[in-house]
Amino acid sequence: MMHVADNLGRAPFRIMVTSLNAFMMSPHEWLAWNSDYPRRVLRHFIGIHLTPSPKEDAKETMCDACNTSPELLTRDGESRRGFLTAGAAAAVAAPLAATGFVGAARAQDAQDANALAESQVQSWAAFDTDGSFAPHTITRRAAGPKDVVVEIMYSSICHSDIHTYKGDWGPAVYPLVPGHEMVGRVVAVGSDVIKFREGDFAGVGTMVDSCGECANCLADREQNCLNGTTFTYGSEDKISGGVTYGGYSKKIVVKEEFALRIPPGVDLAGFAPLLCAGITTFSPINHWDLKPGQRYGVIGMGGLGHLAVKLAVAKGAEVVVFTTSEDKIADAKEFGATEAYLWSDEEALAQQAMSFDLMISTVPVAYDMQSFLNMLKLDKTLVNVGALFEVQGAQGMMMAFNRQSLAGSMTGGIAETQAVIDFAADHGVAATYEMITPDQIGEACQKVVNKEARYRYVIDMTAA
Ligand SMILES: [Zn+2]
Ligand SMILES: [Zn+2]
Repeated sequence: MMHVADNLGRAPFRIMVTSLNAFMMSPHEWLAWNSDYPRRVLRHFIGIHLTPSPKEDAKETMCDACNTSPELLTRDGESRRGFLTAGAAAAVAAPLAATGFVGAARAQDAQDANALAESQVQSWAAFDTDGSFAPHTITRRAAGPKDVVVEIMYSSICHSDIHTYKGDWGPAVYPLVPGHEMVGRVVAVGSDVIKFREGDFAGVGTMVDSCGECANCLADREQNCLNGTTFTYGSEDKISGGVTYGGYSKKIVVKEEFALRIPPGVDLAGFAPLLCAGITTFSPINHWDLKPGQRYGVIGMGGLGHLAVKLAVAKGAEVVVFTTSEDKIADAKEFGATEAYLWSDEEALAQQAMSFDLMISTVPVAYDMQSFLNMLKLDKTLVNVGALFEVQGAQGMMMAFNRQSLAGSMTGGIAETQAVIDFAADHGVAATYEMITPDQIGEACQKVVNKEARYRYVIDMTAA
């Protein structure tokens, strides 16, 4: 059980929580865990003990690597470790030295150290509220023992990126490097990383750090950290100082706990939007427990909304879409919705009164919500994930008559984000997207504002 917790990359105080999660591992997680087991055994008994780091005590390093005590892992205590160390060292070191392997290993060590060092990284930044993006060089910190270095392959444009550089949620710090939906390849791992190895695919979403100790973090709600979540861009960087820089860049260094495993064989570009849009729409489905056959209303079908449809359809719900774009009616049905209506179709909207078990609003601007609240059944909820402004048009009396709730929700925790990635892989769900190159970011953002995106713009970072 300790090894399961290890693989999830949690701190010791979270072992009990993550051990419970382990019982609910998806097939992907079990595969990852099992395939990773021999490597972790080698790390504990050969890798670390035979070649102790010159700067750290080997026993301490082992404890950090596994997030638990050596006794818990070996059950035999110091003597068994000593036996393994001495015996395996004698067996392995002599032939390796004779073949020149040691020299090659040193060269590899130097290469690894280089990959972990602080680096200057190409990015694309907004310099003002206009969103005219330009190349900009940023510094990524040296990777620590528990960090992974990810070469970003695909980064998608979320409407939050646009709200942020425009200053809609408060003044931005420029140059601003947005991007919190990214997928790439792990190119280096710190000495204590156990969740990834070089060559794995990894994703980074809306956050890169949290305290790990508060009640919300301990409940896998890192996005609601009581001591302040570090968001992926434009947030105070508590590790390096300054502000965080997001995924409109070619590389990111991140704690392994905040990197998500992306299963091999999936559409990597289509999975990038799952890191924000996917989890933002999946979390309400989980929290309000949408069940197969229940009627689920999706208000607005852009980047978030189209994933809300696909994920709810995969859950077996009966999905109904409300859109302002006529051409999206056919798309909604293609994504699996049973019905789709234009907001302007007042007659059709009136017929939906008190018919929904759950609704989600993904519209990124404020609007009169009461006409949709009227569509909820008794005691049901409309979850607003799009318009993070003053809520307009909710009528207390109207809501009281049917005890309707209007709720907010923001992204999801790391465990829940991994769950949506695995769920999407298992059910063949991915975003519908158009690929662009980094020099097209500004133009694409304008198209998002003009509702022209179908349905996400994914920036091909390998094209620069
Ligand atoms: Zn987002
Ligand atoms: Zn916290």
